[in-house]
Amino acid sequence: MNSNRRAKIIIWLLWLVFVPSSTYLAFLVTKPDIASYSADILFFLILIAIVGFFPIKLNNTPIFLYEGIALAVFLSFGLFAELVFAQFAFMIVLLTIRIGWSELYRIPLNSLIFLITSIISAVVFYLLGGTHNGNDLASLAFLVPAAAYELTKFLSNQLVINFLLRLLNGDRIHFFTRDTLRQGITVLIQFPIGIILYILYTEMGVIATVYVGIPFITLSIFFKQYYASQNVNYYLQKASEIGHQLAGRLQVDEVLDLIIQKLSTVLPVDFAYILDVKKDGLHLIRYVENGVQKTLSIPPLQKNEGIGGTVWQTGQAVLFHKKEEWKKITQGYLPATVESIISVPIVRNKQIVGVLVLASNSKRSYEKYQLMIVDLLVSYLAVAVENARHYEETKNKSERCALTKLYNYRYFEGLLEEEFKKLDSTNKGEPLSLILLDIDHFKAVNDNFGHQSGNLILCELANRLVKMVGKRGTVARYGGEEFVILLPNKDKFTSLQIAEDIRKLIANNPFVFYSDLDNNRKQISAKITASIGVATALEDADDPLALVRHADRAMYTGAKQAGRNKVAQYVS
Ligand code: GH3
Ligand code: MG
Ligand code: MG
Repeated sequence: MNSNRRAKIIIWLLWLVFVPSSTYLAFLVTKPDIASYSADILFFLILIAIVGFFPIKLNNTPIFLYEGIALAVFLSFGLFAELVFAQFAFMIVLLTIRIGWSELYRIPLNSLIFLITSIISAVVFYLLGGTHNGNDLASLAFLVPAAAYELTKFLSNQLVINFLLRLLNGDRIHFFTRDTLRQGITVLIQFPIGIILYILYTEMGVIATVYVGIPFITLSIFFKQYYASQNVNYYLQKASEIGHQLAGRLQVDEVLDLIIQKLSTVLPVDFAYILDVKKDGLHLIRYVENGVQKTLSIPPLQKNEGIGGTVWQTGQAVLFHKKEEWKKITQGYLPATVESIISVPIVRNKQIVGVLVLASNSKRSYEKYQLMIVDLLVSYLAVAVENARHYEETKNKSERCALTKLYNYRYFEGLLEEEFKKLDSTNKGEPLSLILLDIDHFKAVNDNFGHQSGNLILCELANRLVKMVGKRGTVARYGGEEFVILLPNKDKFTSLQIAEDIRKLIANNPFVFYSDLDNNRKQISAKITASIGVATALEDADDPLALVRHADRAMYTGAKQAGRNKVAQYVS
């Protein structure tokens, strides 16, 4: 069992043990006169229920203006009532938020935090001489314990959360964060409201809950709006950061990785899909599950098929809060745990070139404004992918031979130099071998079968070489019908063996193609051979050009002149 899971179980156990027992203990110690207020407290519960349905969300953590009412409840009825009230309020919050299975432990965790802070604050209150009736409401004897109570609640809440987070995640969280400040401000607003509610209640009874309830709810709504705009600002800032980073990536893969990784840091994303519009439908080109890229083979989606196909068809972004909303549309490729979904079309030059799908296991994970931000980011994505594709294409063109698709000599020269530099810098005496291959009598091949057929042979040979060499080295077209193979870390003996394998691969397997000289396009089988030279650094050469020259010399003198269809090594 991992430590995280163990911690979660411990939290549940602590909750089971401490919440009921502490509440009962508070009952025994404070001996509340429940009968005298049981009707009144109902109004407070109704008030908190109403307020609870207007929670304020900070970075996806819902908080609601509960503290003020809790203060009034505590001042009016004492600790036991406040503890019961707190757990009730907590149930209300649970009804209004979405919480995934893996996050479920936060329920007992928060409940425990409520319990601990309530008790600590009550102790401070009583130590300072606070009482629950007969208070002179204007006196310091009343205000000081009340203020100390509220302050203790705020501070102990920060401390307990800090402590628990450190215990749970090993996080080192600074005591004063932006959140601390926000919560401090919230408390500053709630404290006077709580006092007013208490005073009104003692003066005029339960009708006070109505008087206070109305401005309370208004405030909640106001806060909600305020934080929503703060959130939008935050996401816009993030989006522009991500946009800049995307623009800096030159490879399509990097761009796709980056966007998913970044989206996952700003939004709850359990599954991410990027689909690419191709001729035969929508192809899945990236699938990330809980931050890990995986392969998933899905046949191309057609327009109107599944969520991706629908977004492709309509060109409209969609936002689903829970499974019931999308389960009729899906083709069944989404994991069964998924609830919330955002899907946006990837648009470039007014054309839909792809679709992005983000999914979360929790209900109501995404807000409308988040959808808009994703939409914005995806337009960056479209441009970044286009740029990266252009870059890759251009780079490819400049590095490769158009006929055989092998690396060209220019690329090879650079690679050779790099490998030589590595030899010099590591100086471990590791070898670097080079094979140079020239097809025998290729002019005759052209004369017999036509230049076009000659080209086919060159392509087929290129394919054979790449396949044979594999990851051991790099094959390049040196010129006309000459090829080079660079083999890092391969000594002369091994390289001669590879060269011999290549010689046999060519000589023993005729090249089959259709003649372009013949009108009937007769199938031709051409027997071809090649002469091959091998040189190895540093024993044969100590600079890149010498290595090529010496492999060429070996090919010419040791193989061609010795009768062709031969492998030869450089001899000085
Ligand atoms: P050998 O190397 O055995 O001495 O004889 P060879 O006939 O191969 O001689 P050489 O290297 O002098 O001639 C190379 C020929 O390869 C010349 C040219 O017609 C042909 N060739 C070069 N590049 C291409 C190409 O891209 N396509 C085709 N079809 N032929 C090419
Ligand atoms: Mg030649
Ligand atoms: Mg030749």
